[in-house]
Amino acid sequence: MRILCPCCGERDAREFTYCGDASRVMPALDAEADAWAAYVWGRKNPRGPHEEYWQHAHGCRHWLRVTRNTETHEILSVLLEGPWRARHEAKDPR
Ligand SMILES: [Zn+2]
Repeated sequence: MRILCPCCGERDAREFTYCGDASRVMPALDAEADAWAAYVWGRKNPRGPHEEYWQHAHGCRHWLRVTRNTETHEILSVLLEGPWRARHEAKDPR
């Protein structure tokens, strides 16, 4: 599998570290314990397009939001995560 890093270009997936499900939403700080338990321990095993966090650990070290088809491993989109996204898109719009 290859991932197109917005900073470094297309690289082998072995340069990246999977960092979890990007579709999960943290509950409010005063939410019930069940909501926190579901957030901390609940995991989906989706089939098809799924948003994930990846870090380019052996490259620019940026965090990425990757939409990947879990059946085919096709990468559908890659976005920088965090405050660097706006700066990068202003410099190199894709
Ligand atoms: Zn990179």
